[in-house]
Amino acid sequence: MSQTPAFGRRNTKQIHVGKVAVGGGAPITVQSMTTTKTADVQGTLEQIYALAAAGCDIVRCTCNEPEAAEGLAHIVPRSPIPVIADIHHQYKMALAALDAGVQGLRLNPGNIRRPEHIKAVAQECKDRNVPIRIGVNGGSLDPSLYEKHGGITAGAMVESALQEIAYFDEVGFDLVKISVKASNVPLMVEAYRQLSLVTDYPLHLGVTEAGPPPAGLVKATAGIAALLLEGIGDTIRYSLTADPVEEARAGRQLLEALGLRERKNVDLIACPSCGRAEVDVIDVAKRAMDAFADRKLPLQIAVMGCVVNGPGEAREADLGIAAGNKRGHLFVKGINVAVVPESEMVEALVEWAEFINEHGTEAAIARADVAKAEREARLDRGTLLDEKGDDANRASEKIVEIRKRMQ
Ligand code: SF4
Repeated sequence: MSQTPAFGRRNTKQIHVGKVAVGGGAPITVQSMTTTKTADVQGTLEQIYALAAAGCDIVRCTCNEPEAAEGLAHIVPRSPIPVIADIHHQYKMALAALDAGVQGLRLNPGNIRRPEHIKAVAQECKDRNVPIRIGVNGGSLDPSLYEKHGGITAGAMVESALQEIAYFDEVGFDLVKISVKASNVPLMVEAYRQLSLVTDYPLHLGVTEAGPPPAGLVKATAGIAALLLEGIGDTIRYSLTADPVEEARAGRQLLEALGLRERKNVDLIACPSCGRAEVDVIDVAKRAMDAFADRKLPLQIAVMGCVVNGPGEAREADLGIAAGNKRGHLFVKGINVAVVPESEMVEALVEWAEFINEHGTEAAIARADVAKAEREARLDRGTLLDEKGDDANRASEKIVEIRKRMQ
């Protein structure tokens, strides 16, 4: 059995966003942000429910106008997850969002600069026991810090966060988490590294304006994963130019892949395909991915292109299917349990996955006619080996040709 190595996490203070703990050893949480107008209560709630189903733990909604604050008053009590109000320029919007009952605020120190405004919000949050994220953003850095540091640097972003903390200290407010996001991945990584050395407040990780997938996913994952693997980070957000459900799904998948959150959904593995593939692996894997979508089946499921190597290569998977001779060979923990027509591969996977989720792999093996499945599988493997030999990529033929050319 393969073992997942555990890596240490930096010690941070713990705060609570509603009922969700952040920092201090709590499970790392996934955040996202709604794209609807917050005044559109129904539309925003629908998006929040979809986000929660995709694995989002905390949601942020913009509070940029009085109608948005009024919308929050309806949204917060009906939301399945805690709601944070995103405040940019007007400190009064922060106070209005608190009146609406939000469980957290995000303030951008580059945009609200008057100390008396910052302190008024911190005091109100202290009185209501509501945390604030200091959300420094490379792109909207305070101009005086930009001047002082000669541009957007890690040091400038960290100093911006520390300045804000100093104002909070003046009113004795410490329910804080911090982000220092930039769209440049090495800059963002460096800023968080520096920040983690000077504060023990929990950190919210993100690569801002990462862009549309797949490039945006790569950028966000590069920055967030690099820090998580160093033990830095208590909550994460993918900022993608996409449906926010994709952000939530990506965040959840990253944490599950790193072993930082318990698996909730299917972990689909698939071979890269090669000359031996008996089926369009990309198509079957995609159809399987769509079929499992957000079904809560915490299983590892393999889609393999051929029966010659597939079951062996994926023997650790809870369930898998390999193609051969126009048929799909289903295997549970590497043991053949059934052979189905190629056209029914995905449906069979879903049916067996649901059975395993309910009854376990041993019950699945027990209900199968393993001897019959193994007999048929051996037959298909034999036929394919006879047809294609053990050199499916024609390496030997190619080598003969290369040698001829080089003579
Ligand atoms: S040998 Fe079979 S399982 Fe391995 S990559 Fe090729 S098709 Fe996929």
